[in-house]
Amino acid sequence: MTEPRNPLHILIVMLSGIFAVAGLAFWAEHTSRNAHLEGLDEALRQSALSLGNNISDSIEIADLVLVGLEAEISAYGGVREMGGRLELMITRLAEHAEDLRNLHVIDKEGRLLATTVPNADTGKGFADRAYFQFHAANSTDEPLLGSPILSRLSGERIVTITKRLNDPAGGFAGVLVAHLSIDQFNALLERYLSAFGDASALLVHRDGTLLAATREFSGLVGEKVSLNASSVQPDETTLSKVTETTWPLDDRLRRTASFASGHPPFTIFIGVTTETVAQQWASKSRSRWLIGIAMLVGAVALSLRWHQQAKLHHASVATLRQREQELQLLADASGDLIERLSVDGVREYVSAAAIDVLGCRPADLIGTGVFDHLSGAERNTPIEKFVEFKRDGSEIKRVVTHYIRPDGSEAWLETTLTRLQAKGVLRGFVAITRDVTRRKQRHDELDALANTDTLTDLANRRAFDTALAARLQTARDTGTPLSLLMIDVDRFKLYNDTYGHASGDQCLKAVATAIRSAVRRDDLAARYGGEEFAVILGKADRDTARVVAEKIRRAVVALRHPHERNLPWGYTTVSVGTATADATAIAANTAQKLFESADTALYTAKETGRNRVVCDDEPGHGQDIGKVVNV
Ligand code: GH3
Ligand code: MG
Ligand code: MG
Repeated sequence: MTEPRNPLHILIVMLSGIFAVAGLAFWAEHTSRNAHLEGLDEALRQSALSLGNNISDSIEIADLVLVGLEAEISAYGGVREMGGRLELMITRLAEHAEDLRNLHVIDKEGRLLATTVPNADTGKGFADRAYFQFHAANSTDEPLLGSPILSRLSGERIVTITKRLNDPAGGFAGVLVAHLSIDQFNALLERYLSAFGDASALLVHRDGTLLAATREFSGLVGEKVSLNASSVQPDETTLSKVTETTWPLDDRLRRTASFASGHPPFTIFIGVTTETVAQQWASKSRSRWLIGIAMLVGAVALSLRWHQQAKLHHASVATLRQREQELQLLADASGDLIERLSVDGVREYVSAAAIDVLGCRPADLIGTGVFDHLSGAERNTPIEKFVEFKRDGSEIKRVVTHYIRPDGSEAWLETTLTRLQAKGVLRGFVAITRDVTRRKQRHDELDALANTDTLTDLANRRAFDTALAARLQTARDTGTPLSLLMIDVDRFKLYNDTYGHASGDQCLKAVATAIRSAVRRDDLAARYGGEEFAVILGKADRDTARVVAEKIRRAVVALRHPHERNLPWGYTTVSVGTATADATAIAANTAQKLFESADTALYTAKETGRNRVVCDDEPGHGQDIGKVVNV
């Protein structure tokens, strides 16, 4: 079995993996944030450009209107020469230029000659206006972008575009004035920036005066603001890069894009505070972060929990292994052979005692069948018992087998089989085998002692009873005849009386020896009691019984054992009665009937003179007796 890997190492690998994934996600987030910023910057620049162009257009249109008006006036030879037509003309021009609020014409003394403002107070003077003084002093034809002022005619906040009017000699003849509404500019800026949420825009005159602004700065229109605009040539426009710039109007840092125009001279600033950018990003990425952090925390928690479980598992595996080793040690230290068998009886584990018990090395036995080492007929009983054990569901089974070791020595082995069951499913067996040879020998010795008559060494009455029943059953099973001989020493009471009891014992021993010498090995000769003996003859019919009985009688005669009062012979004799259960009648015979029949024949032998054999079919044996045997 390979060593399980340390859970701590696996945990470190898992956590490294998790943090690597988290790092990748963080990096992806960072990249995505940069992309978001780039997108924002581009939008700011595009808005600045578009707004700049829009404002440029408005101012250019006012310029064009003034240029057109000047051309008309010179065509007429001067404002005075136009008379009432001037009023009509400026009204028509103002109608065509949408962004233009009003148009006025002022003479060289600063008096209002014509205006599009309805019901205007024509008595008002404009000689104090900065643009009037500029044009009176400068002969340039270029239109002038003025600073924000409050219109004296309409009351609106306006920015003026003005142009000098010359007389035919080139002298100062007055000023043409176009009004652009600051509120319209403010609204334009608001409209453009609505897409950005919280963005601000400033329209700044080249001289630093704030011309228009989004809501939060609209109160500062007309004031000087010092925001660094990129330098620009009179006939050029510049779109700046987006930079993080602090706006001095409120001292807040903004991502700022600017568009500068040389002519008309203004700069547009568009900015989004860095806080807003951060907030927008946060709200966009919050759910991703929350999910990401939850997943990270979840993954780390799961890993730690797994580690906890794995540690416990690791510890329990180690404990189990230790137990297993201890058990193996115990098993190997045991004098009994301990084996684990598969369900089919194949050895999976064999303890060290295999050497002593089976005479084989454990390694050689693993994978072999548990009956492989039993020889031929010896294996039938164990196999039957094993199959029965498998089937009957009993807890334990004990089997004794006769085993011959590879070195030829014999052994009696007692095996106790136990089931290995897990969740009701049979997984195999544990077999504990011990060498019971010596125990069996002792048992056999005791058994022999219990079945042997101590005086004569023949089988005793107990062994006789058992053997008669068993052999009668065998005879029934095989349909073979069985004979029983009952032998009694003649006038033995007189023997004792004459020679003493001890001599009587010796006489009985001599008779027993004679009987044993007259029968075959597998016939059973027993001392039935006192001076009576019995012989069971297997597979013996009546004639055989008679022959064997006669042989016994003669063997005793041949002893010539002195018995002076056993007349007419003067030596010890025996009388024998035989009974035979032949093949045809065997089924009906019992031990009791057979015994009674033999005993009756013996009685007849005694009655008819002693030292003789009477069979159960002989005349004089008695009719009723024959009946008993043959029933
Ligand atoms: P029968 O010819 O009719 O058989 O006459 P018997 O004297 O042999 O008949 P009985 O049955 O009257 O006597 C048997 C005697 O055997 C009685 C008993 O003292 C004697 N006997 C029985 N067992 C032993 C024994 O173990 N040793 C000795 N010495 N004598 C025994
Ligand atoms: Mg007797
Ligand atoms: Mg007797």
